[in-house]
Amino acid sequence: MDKIGVIGIGYVGLIQGIGLAEQGWNVMCTDCDLEKIALLQSKKAPIYEKGIQELLKHNAEIGRIKVANSIREVISSCRIIFITVGTPSSEDGSSDIHHVLEVAKTIGMNMNDYKIIINKSTVPVGTARLIKNIVLKELKARDVRCAFDVISNPEFLREGQALWDWFNPDRIVIGSDSLTAIKELKKVYDNFLCRGIPCFTTDNFETAELIKYASNAFLAVKISYINEMALLADQVGADIHDIAEGMGLDHRISSAFLKAGPGYGGSCFPKDTRALINIANKNAVELCIVKAAIQANKKQKLKIIQEVKDIVSNSASEEYNIVTVLGLTFKEGTDDVRESPSLDIIRGLVAENFRIKAYCPKGMENAKKYLEDINIIYSSNEYEACEQSRAVLLLTAWKQFDNINWEKVRGVMKDNYFFDYRNAFTDDLNIRKMFKYSGMGRN
Ligand code: NAD
Repeated sequence: MDKIGVIGIGYVGLIQGIGLAEQGWNVMCTDCDLEKIALLQSKKAPIYEKGIQELLKHNAEIGRIKVANSIREVISSCRIIFITVGTPSSEDGSSDIHHVLEVAKTIGMNMNDYKIIINKSTVPVGTARLIKNIVLKELKARDVRCAFDVISNPEFLREGQALWDWFNPDRIVIGSDSLTAIKELKKVYDNFLCRGIPCFTTDNFETAELIKYASNAFLAVKISYINEMALLADQVGADIHDIAEGMGLDHRISSAFLKAGPGYGGSCFPKDTRALINIANKNAVELCIVKAAIQANKKQKLKIIQEVKDIVSNSASEEYNIVTVLGLTFKEGTDDVRESPSLDIIRGLVAENFRIKAYCPKGMENAKKYLEDINIIYSSNEYEACEQSRAVLLLTAWKQFDNINWEKVRGVMKDNYFFDYRNAFTDDLNIRKMFKYSGMGRN
């Protein structure tokens, strides 16, 4: 059986590697981050995602997943190679694809037999063709004649339920100009295809690349839309939860992504909406709706900062201004804090002279890196985080927060403001009695 290579072992690459290994493939993965390689070689997952540690350990122990020290090792051992490196935002909002191109170049510089190069990273339209040209150029420079194919195969998993998503995708998208390569990749995904999971194939790279951005931007629009409706619901005395339920019953709309909250975040929606705008600008197309979603998302966080500022009156005394943030990750079930609304809200509140105490089940270590320039008191549990605090802001709906003893929390707080920006406790009458409570579009 062919060995499958995975280059870039982050949230996507690690899940891809573990998923394929679990399905019986021999996987060899690598990364440019030596610390990650060392961790993985000692069978430890460098990220948090439910179930990942156990599956990694199991597949490493039975030798189905190997972590190579170098990308060259992966290139020489594997015929099928997935690229899953990061594509962060550049300053102008475009997607920075230099990691992807670097990997393509290294493949071109080192391959000596046929390869199928499959890009799973989210990349601007045209990148698959760029990969092709770069590999060709490197082969030519070495005067090596060997065939290869490129496939665009975007990933749609959600952090927080990444393993479940990987094993149960809604669809698989494959774009390539090579029918042979598509057939081979379909063999890799046979486990899904046998279960009737739709596989959308196109011979057009650009279509496959744009499906990913169009999907993420659509979901971002949906979130911003319901968040704006929540603002209106607050003003007219309507209930956003019930509005979303009433809307979601219409199968054309669906109830997914209709939860009002502090705005979308994470490593995908913010960067992918910006990148899509950038792609459109370069092609002289104005994406008014996506632009509006980005704007509404920014406003949502500013609205929260303003609301806390207006309601929890500030004083000159530093001690008097403590506000507690529960939840630092952009959603529950992950340790990822990239572009988490919590971080922007914390920065905004600090600028308004609030002192922040924070607690998050999995996000604190990462948050410390992103917020190292500001002074935050990180606590070891919810109760410690609420001591002497005037207000609690619930910003991530971790399941663990459902079990908080709110009476105990109230007992250690200096005042009793409770901003439930995830609407986790809107139906809890005790909490409403104990706290000066406000939800999001449900007051
Ligand atoms: P990540 O930052 O968690 O991981 C990327 C990894 O690539 C890092 O470990 C990094 O060290 C490694 N890397 C960078 N350059 C490399 C190189 N030249 N050689 C080897 N390794 C290299 O990123 P991620 O969240 O896994 O996302 C990867 C891609 O998948 C991005 O394009 C992202 O937009 C897309 N994506 C992410 C998600 C998600 O939920 N995280 C979902 C779908 C798609």
